[in-house]
Amino acid sequence: MAAWPVQKTVSAPAETPAQDQGKREKTIFRVLGSCASEGCPSPFCTCDVCVEARTRGGKDMRTRAGYQLGDTIRIDWSPDAFAQGIRFNLDPCLLRHIFITHSHEDHLLPMDFWTRGIVMKHDGSLVKVYGNENVLKIIEKSIERGWQNKNNRLEPVTMVPGKTVEIPEHQISVTALLANHMKTEQALLYIFAGPGWKLFIAHDTDYFPDSTWEFLRGQQIDVMVVDSTWGMVRRNDGHLGIPNVVEIVERMKKEGGLKENALVIPSHLSHHGTPKHAELEAKLAPLGMEPAYDGKVVEL
Ligand SMILES: [Zn+2]
Ligand SMILES: [Zn+2]
Ligand SMILES: [Zn+2]
Repeated sequence: MAAWPVQKTVSAPAETPAQDQGKREKTIFRVLGSCASEGCPSPFCTCDVCVEARTRGGKDMRTRAGYQLGDTIRIDWSPDAFAQGIRFNLDPCLLRHIFITHSHEDHLLPMDFWTRGIVMKHDGSLVKVYGNENVLKIIEKSIERGWQNKNNRLEPVTMVPGKTVEIPEHQISVTALLANHMKTEQALLYIFAGPGWKLFIAHDTDYFPDSTWEFLRGQQIDVMVVDSTWGMVRRNDGHLGIPNVVEIVERMKKEGGLKENALVIPSHLSHHGTPKHAELEAKLAPLGMEPAYDGKVVEL
């Protein structure tokens, strides 16, 4: 029987202060889900994209949108969030900050917040939940005896467009901006600014409102994850397609919102107009964009 290979721990040589200078720990940004609300393969769909995803899997298999920064920060909590954590070997007990963009069901499953209050044994940690007023109301209704119940170990933080919160343990500040997505609440976009990087989560949205454009001017964002629900099709009805995204990227670069060499990641992709992943990747490469897929990792 083959023996397990012995792993030797090798101590890295001590670095001089001069070598340390200019080095910083990278923050891992992970796409957990890259799809719009229906998922891919969409349960009852027989279109080419869904059939490909169902039979071959791989990057065409998309769960609903969600992201993670490092071990402690999640963005959106879709009905697939729990399963995504298992798939990507992420420990939910390490989470400390959950940012929700808006209350549409493909971004918020309130029941999972309820489960925090009914664990057999908890670790004493506190999770801050950031969202607009409506998002926080929906979660509050779902959890046992509301935010005040200490068993839930949840702290609500109301976000409004223009508000910035600090995450001092990671030297990250997060600013909410107004999306152009729904009439019943202020759907939010988020800019995460860490040491030496800026990440913009920009879905669900149509062409940005003026106040958002105003804030974006001169931001010099490094990575933008952007709504591309309609795939290669131009549409303006609460979401965007790649032709719209091209215009947005152009304007952002002109106004200094995006760095010239910024990484643009179209996400929240739907089988309505989105080709198979390989084809999409080939179409986006000349535009300097990389499509999202479940499991995509970017080092910030
Ligand atoms: Zn959505
Ligand atoms: Zn389909
Ligand atoms: Zn939505």
